[in-house]
Amino acid sequence: MRLRELPPRFWLLALLLPPLPPPARAETSAQDVSLGVDWLTRYGYLPPPDPVQAQLQSLEKLRDAVKVMQRFAGLPETGLMDRQTLATMRKPRCSLPDVLGAAGLVRRRRRYALSGSVWPKRTLTWRVRSFPRSSRLSQETVRTLLSYALAVWGAESGLTFHEVDARHQEPDIHIDFARAYHQDSYPFDGLGGTLAHAFFPGEHPISGDTHFDDEETWTFGSKDGEGTDLFAVAVHEFGHALGLGHSSAPNSIMRPFYQGPVGDPDKYRLSQDDIEGLQQLYGKVPQTPQGTPTRRPLAPPPLPPTPLPDSPTWPIPDRCEGHFDAIANIRGETFFFKGPWFWRLQPSGQLVSPRPARLHRFWEGLPAQVTVVQAAYARHRDGRILLFSGPQFWEFRDRQLDGPARPLTELGLPPGLEVDAVFSWPANGKTYLVRGRSYWRFDEEARRADPGYPRDLSLWEGAPLAPDDVTVSNAGDTYFFKGTQYWRFPKGSVKTEPDSPQPMGPEWLDCPASTSGPHAPKPPKATPRSGACDCQCELNQAAGRPPTPFLLSLLPLLAGGLASRCGGSS
Ligand code: ZN
Ligand code: CA
Ligand code: ZN
Repeated sequence: MRLRELPPRFWLLALLLPPLPPPARAETSAQDVSLGVDWLTRYGYLPPPDPVQAQLQSLEKLRDAVKVMQRFAGLPETGLMDRQTLATMRKPRCSLPDVLGAAGLVRRRRRYALSGSVWPKRTLTWRVRSFPRSSRLSQETVRTLLSYALAVWGAESGLTFHEVDARHQEPDIHIDFARAYHQDSYPFDGLGGTLAHAFFPGEHPISGDTHFDDEETWTFGSKDGEGTDLFAVAVHEFGHALGLGHSSAPNSIMRPFYQGPVGDPDKYRLSQDDIEGLQQLYGKVPQTPQGTPTRRPLAPPPLPPTPLPDSPTWPIPDRCEGHFDAIANIRGETFFFKGPWFWRLQPSGQLVSPRPARLHRFWEGLPAQVTVVQAAYARHRDGRILLFSGPQFWEFRDRQLDGPARPLTELGLPPGLEVDAVFSWPANGKTYLVRGRSYWRFDEEARRADPGYPRDLSLWEGAPLAPDDVTVSNAGDTYFFKGTQYWRFPKGSVKTEPDSPQPMGPEWLDCPASTSGPHAPKPPKATPRSGACDCQCELNQAAGRPPTPFLLSLLPLLAGGLASRCGGSS
């Protein structure tokens, strides 16, 4: 979508964007503006769109909304949608609005009690109605963590919480792990984004109920910050279930953004701001001689299940044998996929590790049953990474899955067809999808398949049919790969170099040239390495020169914290 085609309110908000260098400007602003307006509306900073009046927001009001958001998030109050502001909007968070009242929930269908409401009793009952469908946390651990999270609030208010069996009693607080739309006004959004929400106290059956997005990777005490800490999020949500809204206080657990693990549940204490909010609703702890309530001992979370590739049926493949399922240039690095494994080649031409990393350890949220990636590419317009398997594809924001599996028909392929190769060609910015001897072209700007396709792959003069994959190097040359060979098409050209094909091994994979190859082997590059990838697993490595202008448009994403850990080959 071009800026020009946006509704007027977007135009106005575009004025809120700080000036950016020319190449990234158009793409970044249209996208960010729509993200910004949606975000500000969803979390109560702007009134919901009014289809009857359809009046324009004044620039002043929009700037004010951005400023309130910035104050809430502890950012400098520039009133501009600057990088820091956009990065904050992309953080995982609670689904509930930050601003209640004037612009927020009140304007929605008011079905449930809102902030300020309290439970008219001091003993509340709870029950987990549905557990995570797949989690490394056992049901017992989930229940224990939740009971601790409730006890945190009980300790400062004297409220007591009892876990009950629904057969005997309807609990005050139902707890569910749910996916997508789950029969309330706050559908979940898959991995990342919104994490959980809870309903304020009241008379309605849903009051006090607490929902967690079952598509998050719920963890506890994860040392490397992997996944989302269930205890930390549960303490926050139970604050809502007791009647607290969001807080902008720096140490408050009621800040709307996910802050990471909060330490040992046994020792965790609420911040002063949270205690004051709670005690406004329920008063101080009554002085009784009973002492502290007894808590169940906290079972240590079980170790994560062993991933599939460790089993003997998945021997570690030899990269020098070629025959990759997919090859893609992702942010300047070349990724070689084979079965549930992949290797990475840095922009400098060095392998991150001679040992492959596990697919599912790196691509968070890729369904476990996907053990082959048939094609992959990084989409130019927004930096999303698309992985293809069977008649479907998955979209990743950095390393995180973003949304459900989607059919290839969305990219213009006939139903049921799979792809051998997908690549984005810099010469025209279009995306090419190859199957057998045919290829289709997708227009990313217009978001539709180009007419007149499929065409015959022989139009790419010299290209092999049914390539394993095709990708474009940082220098802009197009490479077809098949088996153990590659074909190079110079930048912008659809005619292969006369000396193609060449063996992949020496050029790409630090492998000796096969003696049986049809061409004289090139001297292998001197690339000494230790064989471990422990320290070099950032998705966007600092090593090497980033390809431009692609990275420019990613700057807001990168500023949002591309914290990526080692994909792990050991
Ligand atoms: Zn919240
Ligand atoms: Ca989510
Ligand atoms: Zn819900």
